[in-house]
Amino acid sequence: MDVQETTDLLAAARDRFDILKRANATIDMTRGKPAPEQLDLSNGMLNILTAEECADVDGQDYRNYGIGHGIPAAKALFSGFMEVAPDEIIIGGNSSLNLMYDVLAGALLFGFPDSPRPWSQEEQVSILCPVPGYDRHFAVCEQLGINMIPLPMTDTGPDMDAVEELVSSRPDVRGIWCVPKYSNPTGVVYSDETVDRLAALKPAAKDFKILWDNAYTLHHLGGGAAKVKDILKTCRAAGTENRPILFGSTSKITWPGAGVAVVAGSKATIADLSKKMSFQTIGPDKINQLRHVKFFQDLAGMHDLMNGHADIIGPKFAAVEKALTERLAGKGIATWTTPQGGYFVSIDVLPGCAAEIVRRADEAGLKLTPAGSTWPYGKDPDDSNLRLAPTMPSVEEISRAMEIFCTCVELVCFPRLHG
Ligand code: PLP
Repeated sequence: MDVQETTDLLAAARDRFDILKRANATIDMTRGKPAPEQLDLSNGMLNILTAEECADVDGQDYRNYGIGHGIPAAKALFSGFMEVAPDEIIIGGNSSLNLMYDVLAGALLFGFPDSPRPWSQEEQVSILCPVPGYDRHFAVCEQLGINMIPLPMTDTGPDMDAVEELVSSRPDVRGIWCVPKYSNPTGVVYSDETVDRLAALKPAAKDFKILWDNAYTLHHLGGGAAKVKDILKTCRAAGTENRPILFGSTSKITWPGAGVAVVAGSKATIADLSKKMSFQTIGPDKINQLRHVKFFQDLAGMHDLMNGHADIIGPKFAAVEKALTERLAGKGIATWTTPQGGYFVSIDVLPGCAAEIVRRADEAGLKLTPAGSTWPYGKDPDDSNLRLAPTMPSVEEISRAMEIFCTCVELVCFPRLHG
């Protein structure tokens, strides 16, 4: 676009922004929360169990203490979900983030079986963070004093040249965060080559871990779930089976407040984590596990439910894509992802504009995730990445939200377009 065109479009954006501000919208696109209609899909779980069913399952009373690593039926179901064997999984409480925190806290306090000493006794421990990435992964590291090293995310996963270089040369690098399917926030799906290279890494640290967060493994938007190569099998074949620690949950399948979370890995990994967890709890909520099993019946039941979610949220993502294309394509001020699953859309605007866009959108009643959130320590060096979370608002609200968002992108970016 030439300078005159940009000037005209900026003037139009200013007029539109004034009108939008007067409309007093209140729309929240900050977090990836399921909409109420999605939560309703699992209401059948609320009265699915009888007291008798809970009190005697193969001679066990699920209302009581015990069975720390999960009931057998849940292990059978969720091992299929995580593509591991039933003795390679622990069924935990309701939050996988909680399990991630505990695994890293355990590493700091006690180390892993292949650690020379607890991580906290090292001068520095670092974790690789593909960016843009998930803000709560970064918050866990920051809280625990683990150094974070950002590296670029590509269309096929983390930049593996950078990963290989850092992992092989620096003994302080002890792990990497991975959201292999429909990554938060880009929607990237890891390629087979990425999985192969992760399994084949030759780390300077003996206890290097792949933190494999399967948060969105079934979460397609209407086109069926993508396939990611099996990390545990691939590592086993490469002789590195104790490297991956897999996490997952039904937070965005049933309910984020009352789902089931799991952690998986090799038998040695599971033995280590089970032992650490045995001091933390006398057992998880087995009744919740049981009602999930009864509700889903099997893995096909989980897939069926996810098709219901896709029917609800697919049109919301389509509304975001339509607005971005109609309003911003070809203007040289923004690029964005078109995810096939997951909960987010990632947008890169001109450098130096992201925080100002969030501020202007807020003035017009649209709340966005703070700029910088997708980077370690909340610091995006280019101030250019933004994350949209379209699941919670209605399609109609999203259309209004996108009108505000695109207008703010124009308002803030056009003045910088020609230097
Ligand atoms: N991992 C990723 C990548 C997420 O995006 C989220 C939630 O947005 C979580 C984990 C949280 O999982 P949970 O609810 O099981 O703690």
